[in-house]
Amino acid sequence: MPRRAILTVAIFAIAISSFAQHPSFDPRYHTVSQVIEAITALADTYSTYCVIESLGYSGVDSITIWGVKITENPHLEQNKTVVEIHGGMHGDEPAGVEVCMWMIRDLLHRLHSGDSIARTWWEELEIWIIPQMNPDGRVMCLDSGYIDWRKTKRDLNFNGIYELHIDGVDPNRNWDYMWDEYVAPTLEFEKGPYPFSEQCVITMRDFYIRKRPVFAVDFHSPCSTGGNKMWFSWFFNEGEHYGHGPDAINNWLEIRTEYANATLDEEGNTYARGMSYHTTPKLQTWTYFHLGICSIVLEITNQRFWEGEIIDTISARVGRGTYTLLDRALRQMLITHVVDTSSGEPITDAIVNIAELQHPYFPPRTVDPVHGTNRRLLREGYYTVDVSATGYHPKTLDSVYVSSGPPTELTVALRRDLSIAETDLPHEFAIRAYPNPFNSALTISIEGVGAGLAPASIEIYDVSGRRVACLGSARQPDGTVGARHASPATGRIHASPTTYEFTWQPSPSLPSGVYLVRARFDSAQRPGGGRAAAKRVVYLK
Ligand SMILES: [Zn+2]
Repeated sequence: MPRRAILTVAIFAIAISSFAQHPSFDPRYHTVSQVIEAITALADTYSTYCVIESLGYSGVDSITIWGVKITENPHLEQNKTVVEIHGGMHGDEPAGVEVCMWMIRDLLHRLHSGDSIARTWWEELEIWIIPQMNPDGRVMCLDSGYIDWRKTKRDLNFNGIYELHIDGVDPNRNWDYMWDEYVAPTLEFEKGPYPFSEQCVITMRDFYIRKRPVFAVDFHSPCSTGGNKMWFSWFFNEGEHYGHGPDAINNWLEIRTEYANATLDEEGNTYARGMSYHTTPKLQTWTYFHLGICSIVLEITNQRFWEGEIIDTISARVGRGTYTLLDRALRQMLITHVVDTSSGEPITDAIVNIAELQHPYFPPRTVDPVHGTNRRLLREGYYTVDVSATGYHPKTLDSVYVSSGPPTELTVALRRDLSIAETDLPHEFAIRAYPNPFNSALTISIEGVGAGLAPASIEIYDVSGRRVACLGSARQPDGTVGARHASPATGRIHASPTTYEFTWQPSPSLPSGVYLVRARFDSAQRPGGGRAAAKRVVYLK
C-alpha cells in the first residue's frame, strides 16, 4: 500500500473515532438518561396529575421503558378511555421524543395553571406518553454517536460487538402480523429472528393488549423526503379486499383530516395525509388488525436532525396538532361493558362486534382483559352490536345509537350456556375428566394443547352457573405451571409438556350433582386466539 493511502486511512480512522466520542447533536435533543431524569422530576413535581410507570426493559442495556400516565387519580387502575403516544422507536429519529417531552411538560403546566380544556382531558381520559420506546437504539445514536443507528442492539452475528447496519432489529418489522410474507429490502429493515424477539416490541405489545387505547400515535422522522405527513392504517391492496378498511371509511378518514389540518410543519403548512398498506409486520398494522386500535404514524419534518430553536417549534406544532385526538377521544364512541348475569363480574374474553363494520378479513373485536370493556370510535348513527363469549349465550343489540356527543355506554349481561357438550369441542383440544361420576377427587386432563397456548383458568360451575372452584394457573418463568388462585382445598396442578392435568377435590360443603368444568387457554401471541372447552361431570357423595 502506498504511503499516502496509509496516511489517508489513518486520518479517516481518527476522524470516525473522535466523532463517536463527541457527537455534535444540538443539546436541545434529550439523551436517554436526560429523558428519564426529566420525566422523573416532572412526576415528582406534579404527582397529583401524573405517575411514571415502568412498562418493560430494553433488550441489551436493560434500560427501563417508561410510560408517563396523565390522568385524574393517576395511581389507581381505572376504566377510562386510553390514548397512547410514543416516540423513539427508531434510535436516530429524535423529533418524536421531543414532541413527547413537549406534550408532557405542556399538559402538566396547563393542569397546574387550571386550564379547563386540559382538565377535561385529565378527568375523562388516561393519557399515556411513552417518550422513548427503543432506548438501546437511542443510546447508540445519541450517546455513542452512531448517527444512523435506527434499530435495537441485538448482536445478530454473535461476535460480541455492536456493528452499525449489521446488528440490530427494526422494532417496526418485528411484529407477527404479515411476518411470513415480509422480506426486508435492506439490513435497515431487518425483521429479526422471530416475531417479538425484541424486548421493546414485547413491551409495547403487552401495553396494547392490557390498556386497549383508542388511539396509538407513533412518531417517526424520514431521512430526506416523504415527511410532514401522517399515515393511517388501513389500506388493502389485494383482490376482493381492495380499498380502505371499514373503520377508516366509517370515521377514521375524518379523524385523519382533522388531525392533519391541525398540525403544521416547520414552514407553517398543514400535514399531508396517507394510507398505509398492511403488508409489513409493523406496530401500526398489528395494533389495528388484532385490537382495532386507530393507529397513526407521523413522519415529522423531512430530516432527522435539526439545530436551533426550530427543534422546539417543530415539537410544539406537532404536539398541539396531536391534541385533536384527545378531543376526539371524548366523543362519538361506543363503550360496551360485558358482564356475567349471575356474578356481575366482567367477562374478560368477550367479543363485541359491530355488524355493520365486521369485515371478514379481521378477527373479532374483543374486550380488554382487565375490565371486560370494548371501546369503538364511530360515526354518528345506528349500529347492530353482537356480543358473545365462550360458554355464554350470545346477545345481539339492534339499533344502538351513537351520537356525535359524549360516548354511548352499554352494559351487556351474558347468561352462561350450560348446554355445551363434549361433542362441540375441537377434536385436537380434548378435555377428559375421570372417574365420572366421581366421589372424592376428579382428575381433569387437557390434551393436545398447541404451542403458544398457556392455561388461563380451569373453572368449575354448578348448574345455576355459580362458580364453585377456580383452579387458575399461570406458566412460571422456569417453564413449570403453578397455581395462581388455587387453594389446597380446591385443587392441585400438574403438568407435562403436552398434557395439562389438574385434580379437583370438592369442598365438603358442596352438594352432590352435575357440575361443569370449563378450561380456558390463552394464546401468548394472538389476543383472542386462545381456546376454551367444557365438560359436564357428576359428583356423588
Ligand atoms: Zn422511524
